Amino acid sequence: MQRSDLSLTDLHVSTIMKQRVLIIGLGISGMSAAIALEAQGWSPILIERAPTRRKGGYFIGLRNEGKNAARELGIFDTMEKRTPERLRFWDIRKDGSRRRVADLTRETDAPVAVMRGDIEDVLWQAVESRMDIRFDTVPVAIESLPDGVNVSLRHGEEETQEHFDLVIGADGVRSAVRRMVFGPDKSCLHPLGTTLCAFPLSRPVPHCASGDGVMIADTGRTLTIFPLQGKPSTALFSYRQSVQYAAPNEAPLQALQRRFAGLDVHGIVSSALSDLAATNDFLFDSVQMVKIPRWSKGRVVLLGDSAWCLTLYSGMGASAGMMGGLALAKALAAHPDNLDRGLAAFETEMRPFIRRHQRFVRLRAELFVPSTWISLKARRLLWRIMRWSQSRKQRDLSASA
Ligand SMILES: Cc1cc2nc3c(=O)[nH]c(=O)nc-3n(C[C@H](O)[C@H](O)[C@H](O)COP(=O)(O)OP(=O)(O)OC[C@H]3O[C@@H](n4cnc5c(N)ncnc54)[C@H](O)[C@@H]3O)c2cc1C
Repeated sequence: MQRSDLSLTDLHVSTIMKQRVLIIGLGISGMSAAIALEAQGWSPILIERAPTRRKGGYFIGLRNEGKNAARELGIFDTMEKRTPERLRFWDIRKDGSRRRVADLTRETDAPVAVMRGDIEDVLWQAVESRMDIRFDTVPVAIESLPDGVNVSLRHGEEETQEHFDLVIGADGVRSAVRRMVFGPDKSCLHPLGTTLCAFPLSRPVPHCASGDGVMIADTGRTLTIFPLQGKPSTALFSYRQSVQYAAPNEAPLQALQRRFAGLDVHGIVSSALSDLAATNDFLFDSVQMVKIPRWSKGRVVLLGDSAWCLTLYSGMGASAGMMGGLALAKALAAHPDNLDRGLAAFETEMRPFIRRHQRFVRLRAELFVPSTWISLKARRLLWRIMRWSQSRKQRDLSASA
């Protein structure tokens, strides 16, 4: 039967019979799932702890998996792309010397540079006027029943209970849904023994031209500055400390001033820290991978960082969030009468990808923030080999042209 053949009563019934899915978290994973599930006939209700939508964020590189997922969600073409036209990356040493290192945008699977907010902006445009979205709202109790899930929601002082057919916890690495339904943080988090602080800079990097990326690496501490087209660069400080499950309990500025003392090459570190002092748009946390044996329990499923946080070192978290939203919607659509099977099919689809990337996270973290002098040397050598291989490819191309 065509939709136009339905009577008004049929239409009303078909609307109210849509399955209701509560999506907790208005990040990349939550909004991707909302778009994909709505397209499969679900009625998404999104809740977000923050009082308003966040913007900005930090540098994100989208490789083929992320680009393809964004295309499938219908957001890739309208997303701002910020790969600088003239990009050069420099390894700046403590003594002030600098060496040019590989330019990742010349690789075959070259990542496209965006800010987290660029992805969220286009996802938001797709959900904004179509769905029930509630800010300043958090879940306080979740009870999974055979026929649905009862969730107590808190909005300001007010508390209400609602019934949903499915609940998705897309509430990030420090997920409250995971704690409420799957277990305490200590059983799911795998700390890497590093801390990150990421934020947008508000002024040019000293002694650098526009389009210059900077890496200042030392044993146990690294500053990376990613240039963006049409926007100030973003800074990413990362340092090693003892293994911690909790978020750091000191202010980022003081922590970084202490950790990066003696590494202020060309005034780059102090300039970035002055910018940090003037912004509220920063992320400061200890870095955790998330591993749990199953992503769903009854009618509650985790998605994105809350389920599998791949960490910044994988460069795949945003991509996995979009892919996960699509995979979940497709798996549920393939098993319309059996939610358990749909959720199992979602795991079968996503697990190999997540496992593959989690396997290398510790090695990548070691190369990103070397814990020893030997790793620091290995990191420098790797970047130079990559640069050498790029130059050779370019020479071969010019010779054959
Ligand atoms: C510095 C850095 C660099 C990165 N670089 C890359 C990269 O190059 N490529 C890449 O693919 N990925 C990258 N990532 C990873 C990527 O940013 C994340 O994996 C991705 O944004 C996670 O999205 P999410 O929606 O799962 O979680 P989040 O972005 O954490 O969103 C969770 C949302 O849930 C909300 N929330 C939290 N608790 C509650 C609650 N109790 N109730 C209601 N709402 C709640 C939060 O406010 C937030 O809006 C990087 C990450 C970092 C930190």
